[in-house]
Amino acid sequence: MTDAPSTPVSRDELDELARLVTPLDDRPGLEVHAPYDDSVVGTVPLCTPDDVRSAVAEAKSAGDEWSTWPIEDRTAVFARFHDAVLDQREALLDVIQTETGKARADALEEVLDVATTARYYANHAERELASKRRVGAIPLVTKAVEHHHPVGVVGIISPWNYPLSLSVSESIPALLAGNAVVLKPDEGTPFTALWALGVLRECGLPDDVFQVVTGEGPRLGEPLIEGVDYVSFTGSTEVGRTVAETAGRHLTDCSLELGGKNPLLVLDDADVEKAARGAVRGCFANAGQLCISIERIYVHEAVADEFRDAFVRETRGLTLDAGYDYGHDVGSLLDRELLEKVETHVEDAVEKGASVLSGGRARPDLGPYFYEPTILTDVTPDATLADEETFGPVVSLYEVESVSEAIERANDSAYGLNASVWTKQTQRGEQVAARLEAGTVNVNDAYAAAWASIDAPMGGMKDSGVGRRHGRHGLLKYTESQTVATQRVGLLSPPKRGKQAWANGATLGLRLWKRLTEVLP
Ligand code: NAD
Repeated sequence: MTDAPSTPVSRDELDELARLVTPLDDRPGLEVHAPYDDSVVGTVPLCTPDDVRSAVAEAKSAGDEWSTWPIEDRTAVFARFHDAVLDQREALLDVIQTETGKARADALEEVLDVATTARYYANHAERELASKRRVGAIPLVTKAVEHHHPVGVVGIISPWNYPLSLSVSESIPALLAGNAVVLKPDEGTPFTALWALGVLRECGLPDDVFQVVTGEGPRLGEPLIEGVDYVSFTGSTEVGRTVAETAGRHLTDCSLELGGKNPLLVLDDADVEKAARGAVRGCFANAGQLCISIERIYVHEAVADEFRDAFVRETRGLTLDAGYDYGHDVGSLLDRELLEKVETHVEDAVEKGASVLSGGRARPDLGPYFYEPTILTDVTPDATLADEETFGPVVSLYEVESVSEAIERANDSAYGLNASVWTKQTQRGEQVAARLEAGTVNVNDAYAAAWASIDAPMGGMKDSGVGRRHGRHGLLKYTESQTVATQRVGLLSPPKRGKQAWANGATLGLRLWKRLTEVLP
């Protein structure tokens, strides 16, 4: 193995971040490794269930005060955070790369995402959270107003693959809505969220409103879900089911952003070169460790040879290496467990008849967990990766005879997170999109167009999730809606005497109302 570059982030800086975790005294340390060379870069406290309970209690009392802040003061914190993140971009990129081993351009996506999210919700929260008049039971006689109150304390459980986006971008709307947040980042990548916590405090977020507890998911999950008023989980479908079960037992509302086995469709009229470049980004961004990345490609037979050649050529042109600069395209996988899963998936597919068109091997010469961007063809239905998410840089290429077959095979999956369609006729692409069972569909892009359209909802159908992030839904899910209806005249109930006349009057009223709604705009 060539000498891996050592992290530009000092141990002192990471130790200081670790001190932001809620409990400090006498906790054993949880080691955090740099995937580039597996060295230990720092430790964070191994929190206990009691630590989680204290963090929730502290968050609750801090949140009670925070929720009384005028909305413009709350939004000002996140407007400042937007600028601070962009100003300190390089330092943040170093932290993200250190604990994930991803390429710098992939880390940059997270920085841009968190700034976009801060700006979007800072600009929209006031309007979305404002109380709104609704049509009352009897117009003019009944006044109805919809209010949105913070739920209280939001628990956020996040994975390692996008440790900034999936923990901090998810926390921003929850905080802006007036809630406190207790975040449990993944065991392997706590420092990025802690970095953001420090900066948020510098931007004016009161201490204790946003707490981070570090430690093991199976141990901390239950007390967290038990204690909070809403849970936002991002991670695997398997753990998502456990989270939903626990939340269900406590009648705690939750949203679940889970796994995917996302398809990309190349239609017979696609710009093949553009589709090949888009597919490369879709399959190998973040070394494939991306919930919305592409793991299946269905290409129409009319353009299959041309697309395959262009896709293989573009993939072979990717550079794979470690480095804290923009000098390479693809970084490392997170750890040995994931590397072994990727290797097992590829070996199993090959044993069952698949051929490797590109890649197909680990690269221990670059670092302990590097794996080449890999294209498989002739994958048989009994191969594990035919249906299961690999979550690595591996894609299966299938030729289809028609667009209908491509749609049918794309939908033949337990998952429904993201999809991509390539065609020169955008209207045709949008029609195909409407037939795909996926929460987001990108026409002539792989994943970034839908993800970055933050005004629109994002989330999964089928086993890919429950609920949505982004847009107004991503904010209002962190609120309790309350309707206050004021009856200005009389009572909305039958009178003590004259119920027959009341029944006739009410029936006539409904008939007239329907008529009016038919003639009025
Ligand atoms: P994971 O489910 O193993 O872990 C996610 C988080 O859950 C971690 O913080 C972990 O500590 C915690 N956890 C583990 N067991 C728990 C339990 N019993 N109770 C409560 N929390 C528990 O997922 P992962 O391997 O870190 O991430 C990869 C998966 O996440 C992939 O399947 C990927 O597709 C999915 N993902 C989905 C999205 C999305 O937006 N849909 C985004 C990123 C990743």
